[in-house]
Amino acid sequence: MPIKVLSEEVASKIAAGEVVERPASVVKELVENSIDAGAREIKVEVRQGGRRLMRVIDDGMGIPADEVELAFARHSTSKIASVDDLSSISTLGFRGEALASVAAVSQVTVVTKAAEGDVGTLLRLEGGKVTHRQKKGCPQGTVVTVENLFYNVPARLKFLRSEATERKHINSLVYRYGMAYPQLRFSLLNDGRLTFQSLGSGELYDVLIKVYGLEVAQQMLEVRRLRRAFGVSAQSNAQSSRPRSEDFGEPSGRASGRGLSRAVRAPEADDPLTGSGHRLKPGTSELELVDVYGYISPPSLHRANRSYLTFFVNGRWVQDRMLSYAVSEAYHTLLPTGRHPIVVLRLELDPSQVDINVHPTKREIRFLDSNAVFAAVQKAVRRTLVDQAPIPRMMGRPLQWPAPDVERRRKLVEVGSQAKAAGIEAPSAYEFPEPAKLPPLRVLGQMAQTYIIAEGPEGMYLVDQHAAHERVLYERLMAERAKMAVASQALLEPLTIELPFQPGIAGGESLEFLNHLGFDIEPFGGDTYLVRAVPAMLAKGDIGQAIVEIVDELTEGGTVEVGKERALISLVCHSAVRAGQTLSMEEMRDLIRQLEETAMPRTCPHGRPTMVHLSAEQLAREFGRR
Ligand code: ADP
Ligand code: MG
Repeated sequence: MPIKVLSEEVASKIAAGEVVERPASVVKELVENSIDAGAREIKVEVRQGGRRLMRVIDDGMGIPADEVELAFARHSTSKIASVDDLSSISTLGFRGEALASVAAVSQVTVVTKAAEGDVGTLLRLEGGKVTHRQKKGCPQGTVVTVENLFYNVPARLKFLRSEATERKHINSLVYRYGMAYPQLRFSLLNDGRLTFQSLGSGELYDVLIKVYGLEVAQQMLEVRRLRRAFGVSAQSNAQSSRPRSEDFGEPSGRASGRGLSRAVRAPEADDPLTGSGHRLKPGTSELELVDVYGYISPPSLHRANRSYLTFFVNGRWVQDRMLSYAVSEAYHTLLPTGRHPIVVLRLELDPSQVDINVHPTKREIRFLDSNAVFAAVQKAVRRTLVDQAPIPRMMGRPLQWPAPDVERRRKLVEVGSQAKAAGIEAPSAYEFPEPAKLPPLRVLGQMAQTYIIAEGPEGMYLVDQHAAHERVLYERLMAERAKMAVASQALLEPLTIELPFQPGIAGGESLEFLNHLGFDIEPFGGDTYLVRAVPAMLAKGDIGQAIVEIVDELTEGGTVEVGKERALISLVCHSAVRAGQTLSMEEMRDLIRQLEETAMPRTCPHGRPTMVHLSAEQLAREFGRR
């Protein structure tokens, strides 16, 4: 499609606002243009954190000589033409204002050549006005150089952060696009130094290594696409031209001519799962709506802030609270409080299911059915954690799980694109690793009245008796609550407790919550309450102390739901066997058996590990047998 100025009607429907906030936003717009142009290789050069210069070089389709000026006009785009196009955008850009906005506040030079033209064009603009134009011999593709950003807007210049901060923003942006498009070769030069380069192998895993390092990448768990795994029928998958799972974001087929580039793939029109690109029928499950795949960290690997959560929706990097929340929910009780996982997830859904036209820089989007998207993300992450999370190892680095997968990845790293070129197929998504249930454990004894020593096929395990029991009780409590049947035990003598400074407790809801948990507590005047019954699991614990702490958690602040969750965990904590308690062999065997039956045997509800593992191999090494 040639570049055209959008009609007033279309232009007015595009979310208005400032596109250029800082150097990184310029790099973002330029990189998106290169991706939309079907580039295979994208080089980003930055000087002085982008304040001095930003340059993006691509080998995409280029701009024809007679359209170059038009590209810099406001609301000029080759990507959409009508209002209808707004509802099914398959490119990253569509607003037709990035180049105009960037040019207005900087000095821009573009050198470009389209496939069909034999000679390229050089155009220079200052503050949005063309100052120079000439023919120029150059390879096909586009080089956009942006210098002295905000040179003519001193007020904005003042608000730029330090060079280091702006550089950090640019770095993380390029990393993100590298991860979103593993099939493209990205490189990033900071003041002449190559600071990042992706292989363009098509494997997200290869890019993870470059972004987070081998150490972290090796521990990451792969979230596989379910749609393919359970994939309706293998046959229909083979027939439709959906990408294979290893094609994480398949190459944006270089569009012939200047049609819509297909940087962001829309589901095929004959896709048996989504129908022909129409709205979903009621009752369609989230699985059919959205594909979720990528990599997530195991519970043993976490960070202090949320900046390690990365989401791409149809190839677009988005910052979305709902998606972050879905992930935190999936890690719920698996991570220590205040810690966050490392997550790189790609979501693919029919473009008609997403509204990307809600934010000027397009980083926020709206889902038509956000509940379904939430559920799909949460389930995909949870499933991966349940199936694959490893038991921490006693020494050295954490156990990598599953072993065969690590082997496959190592091969891919070594061989990289050569393997692809040679047609070596990565294992298909059908080869799921066995769900990582606990191995059968034989109890040998107790240590320090705190740890259960057990033997399994893979060596020795030390189980924290308190943490393990907490996990067992937590899952039991959740199951009982779901059935509205928490086991309760009446006290022989009612107990009176004082709960001063707890105005919330008598306020009905808290008391009701506790009474649903198996307590029978009633106000007894003033700060005093009468306890007639307690949850059966707590019957042998220090009831008075437990109630005080549970009520504390319940009323401490945060949302009601968070308070309830903390209260549940506190109840479980007070009910579980303590460290320092002697257990008989029978009791220990019982506990291990119950732990084996839980869904998440490896962590307690606080997110601490329930066990550590010393492998037979490690032991042999320690004793010099190998
Ligand atoms: P948008 O990307 O929203 O269409 P832009 O202002 O970013 O708007 O770009 C305007 C037009 O210029 C694009 O529609 C595209 O046709 C052309 N263009 C910009 N950058 C490139 C590039 N790197 N390669 C080819 N064409 C480009
Ligand atoms: Mg653009």
